[in-house]
Amino acid sequence: MEHPENDSQYIGLTVNGGVAQPPIVNPYLSKRPRRKPLPSVSELVEGIIKGDVTTLSRAVTLVESLAPEHYALAQEVIEKCLPYSGRSRRIGITGVPGAGKSTSIDVFGLHVLREGGKLAVLAIDPSSERTKGSILGDKTRMEKLSQHPSAFIRPSPSAGSLGGVARKTRETIVLCEAAGYDNIFVETVGVGQSETAVHSMVDFFLLIQIAGAGDELQGIKRGIMEMADGIVINKADGDNVGPAQLAQAQYRSALHLFPPTTSGWMPEVLTYSGYYELGIAEVWEMIDRYFAFVKGNGFFERRRQQQARYWMFETIDEQLRKHFYDNPEIDIRLAQAEADVLGNRRSSFAAAQQILKYYFDQK
Ligand code: GDP
Repeated sequence: MEHPENDSQYIGLTVNGGVAQPPIVNPYLSKRPRRKPLPSVSELVEGIIKGDVTTLSRAVTLVESLAPEHYALAQEVIEKCLPYSGRSRRIGITGVPGAGKSTSIDVFGLHVLREGGKLAVLAIDPSSERTKGSILGDKTRMEKLSQHPSAFIRPSPSAGSLGGVARKTRETIVLCEAAGYDNIFVETVGVGQSETAVHSMVDFFLLIQIAGAGDELQGIKRGIMEMADGIVINKADGDNVGPAQLAQAQYRSALHLFPPTTSGWMPEVLTYSGYYELGIAEVWEMIDRYFAFVKGNGFFERRRQQQARYWMFETIDEQLRKHFYDNPEIDIRLAQAEADVLGNRRSSFAAAQQILKYYFDQK
């Protein structure tokens, strides 16, 4: 081919030779330090039992990880931590957004820590994948507590089904207890199914309510109220003291209509102000009374045993579902079957049967 620009007579710009194609892989990358290798089971367990917060955080990250090798390692660590766990008060805290959960957990937490010991605040928020955990567990929400040396605050594990998120939180409880945390708060937003999950992993379930939102009992699911061991009405300050007391009376009479609880404990209804720190000690006296009561009548142990059984079946369910839905071939067949069912070409039952047959026949 002619290249007139290379002619000595040519007065235009000359063309320089291009640069050599650089290697696809950055050669400096190999010199960079590799990612830290995974710690060993014994390293993790020893660190946790010593109460080392960095090790604890690392182990919790492994519990939350989706990588199979992390899962296997985390399970071994949990197994080894189990004998050191169980000696804590597990308290679930729920309430609609704006009820004052963060404000309250901040002051409840400091109140509890004044008696000594350590406190872990965990959260279950199945929506946190979307919100990146900003609704729950954000440290800035619990300003005072997050600066306390004896408090460990961990946002909700993100990603996955409610069952998966809840299992991870339950496993984190075991690790925290082994690390010497003798009070565990598990927070959740009082808007959906997550209350049931929290209820199934705590000893005491606290429902935070607010007054002055029209009919006090509206918008709160009967099921959630039935799960509560204590109902506390927040923001009982200023002009809101009257409405809060009215709400208290309404909740008390509503609770009388419920069937007796299996623990024999009659849920109490109190008012307080998280923001102005009024009535905090009374809330904790109620919780202390509850623990004395259920430890006295054996319900405490029974509830924990039932929960352990529940979580065994939950974990089996979760793993089975995961094994089924993670299968790429199943995924393709499901999409096809779904279209057939929606197009009335096949019945739901027949479509399900066919996919299950394929799944069970696979080896
Ligand atoms: P969360 O969404 O349940 O975590 O609620 P927050 O703790 O973020 O509180 C929601 C709003 O209610 C904030 O503006 C708080 O300042 C306010 N708040 C919380 N507790 C009280 C209280 O005891 N009294 C009053 N008056 N306001 C409060």
